[in-house]
This record gives sequence, structure tokens and C-alpha cells, in this order.
Amino acid sequence: MTNNPNILLVYTGGTIGMVKDYKTKALRAFDFSQILEKIPELKQLNCEIDTISFDVPIDSSNMNIHYYITIAEIIAKHYNNYDGFVVLTGSDTMSYISSAVSFMFENLQKPVIFTGSQLPIGDLRTDAKENLITSIEIACASEGGEPTIQEVGLYFEYKLYRANRTTKINAEQFEAFTSMNYPALAESGVHLSFNKHLLLRNESKKSKLIFRKNLIEDIVILKLFPGITSKVVEAIVNVPGLKGIVLETYGAGNAPTEQWFIDLIRKAIDKGIRIVNVTQCSGGSVILGLYETSTDLKNMGIINGKDITTETAIAKMMYLLGEDLTKEEFKKYFETSLRGEIS
Ligand code: ASP
Repeated sequence: MTNNPNILLVYTGGTIGMVKDYKTKALRAFDFSQILEKIPELKQLNCEIDTISFDVPIDSSNMNIHYYITIAEIIAKHYNNYDGFVVLTGSDTMSYISSAVSFMFENLQKPVIFTGSQLPIGDLRTDAKENLITSIEIACASEGGEPTIQEVGLYFEYKLYRANRTTKINAEQFEAFTSMNYPALAESGVHLSFNKHLLLRNESKKSKLIFRKNLIEDIVILKLFPGITSKVVEAIVNVPGLKGIVLETYGAGNAPTEQWFIDLIRKAIDKGIRIVNVTQCSGGSVILGLYETSTDLKNMGIINGKDITTETAIAKMMYLLGEDLTKEEFKKYFETSLRGEIS
């Protein structure tokens, strides 16, 4: 036994877990239980690494709430036995997955770092090794006997972000993610430097981890565009069983003032559908009532998503819908930062 940190590496799928068969040139899934033999550099990290892999690695485009719950259950089950967790998923929907996981844990006091890569781990020019090695290093970092990171992070291309602030912005470049409304939590250069004043801390250190896994998926993103017709909006608000809408509006939360639009949105809110206003802009915030074009929405009680990302609005909605809240409570909690997701 050593006093080195113990890290649990959870592999779910995505590009990162592929190796190229140089004879056939085909990509195939890599056996993560052999990771230490395949990436001997990991042995220099002074930590103990155990791995758990999904039986069948999955592309993140095929992940739904059941996979989010499986990932969170693995972390919850092993929470007391490890100092930190590194979760490898495909990057395409990593912002959604990691945001959802951030809500499922209240009072998290250990690092949960999501990462992946643009090129397979077996590719000569891969970004996977750096992403994986630094993510493990971040998960091991501690200060004064406490983990430096005590929240869900997303590490990619030299930057650690708060996971629920991220968006995938590039399908080709190694710098695939950004966090427009919150600075990076850490940057990896010659040194690994943490921006300590930006890190999430639980007020009460004694609080135990609370794990909630009742996610609801009867929701939709309604993205406005100039010329959107009443037929389309009507069809969406009348989807049977629909419980929530993430309404992607223009600029600071603006939408058409045409009567048909206002009436459909009002009717949906009256029916009990939770509607959150988020901006289509990558950065900045909804400011309800700033323009006349958001005054009606404000008056009818639309929820103000402020500077939340669409990905996180979806995750937060899935989470809060599972909590059996009144209309007023739902609005209050949505507009409050629960895991550092809004400013
Ligand atoms: N399609 C892959 C996925 O998201 C891409 C990646 O791993 O980055 O699963």
C-alpha cells in the first residue's frame, strides 16, 4: 500500500478509446484494463489507477439519460474508495453528459474530470495522451490534505473548465471546447496552474454526498429563427407529455411580439410546461425586460436562464423536473446557481 492518490478511470467510449490497426488502417476499441501497459507514462504520475469500462463502448451521440445515470452510479458506488474520478466519453455530447452528472451530485467534495480526444489514443498525433495524463494529474491534485478540485470539470487541450459551463465549438481542432461565460479553472503549461478563486467549494464541509438520479427526458429545445411559423411552435408545445422547453431566443432573451407566438407560449406555461429562456448567443446573458421584445415573456413568468448554456439548461431541466417541484420552486431553483452553472 502507498499513500498515493487512488484514481478511478471510467471509460465509456468515444474516439479516445480507439487504436489504429496499422496493417488494416481500421480503428478499433482499445482494452482499457491494459492502459498502464499501453501508456507507460501514466506510471510516472505517482497515483494508483483502476479502470472500469463499459462492456460495449458507446459513441456519445447514442448516450441518453440511462447512460448518464450509469456513469453517476459508478461514481456514487466508488465515491468513498477513490480520491478522484476521470471519465472518458466521446466529446460530441460531453458537455451535456458532464453537466447532467454535475447536478446529480450535491455536496461533491472530490474531483470528477471528464475528458476525451479528437484523435484516437492509438494515433501518432493524438491529443488523447495529454488530455488523459493531465486529467489524471488534476484529479490527483490536493492542497492541505484536500482535493484541489471538488466539482465536475471538463479538461481538453490544456484547459480545465467547469463542465456545466462548456460547449463543444470545434469538430476538428484539438481545442474543441470553450466556456464563454466562466474562465478556465486551470491551465496546463510548463506548470499546472489552478485559478483557485474560481473553484467551487461546498459551504459546509461536513455535508454528505447526496446522489439524485431521477432524470426526466420529456423536454425539447425550441430554437427561434426569423420566419418561424405558428404551425411549428404549435406542434412543439402540443407534444404529448412534454414537460419542459428550452427556448433559445435572440440576443439578450428577445422573441417575436406577434400575438400568436405570445399566446402559444402563455398557454404552454399555463398548462404547466416549464419554459426557460436562454440566448442563442455563445456568450452573454438573457436580461428579461431589457427590450420590449422580452417584456411579454417576463410578464407571463418565463424562467430566466441568464447566462446558462443550452447544454446545461437541458441537463438542469432533466434534473429539476425529477424533483417534483411547484411552478414557483422550479423557477426559483432554475434561476439560482446550484453547481456554479450561472453567474
Ligand atoms: N463521435 C465521437 C463521440 O462523441 C467523437 C469523440 O469521441 O470525440 O463519441
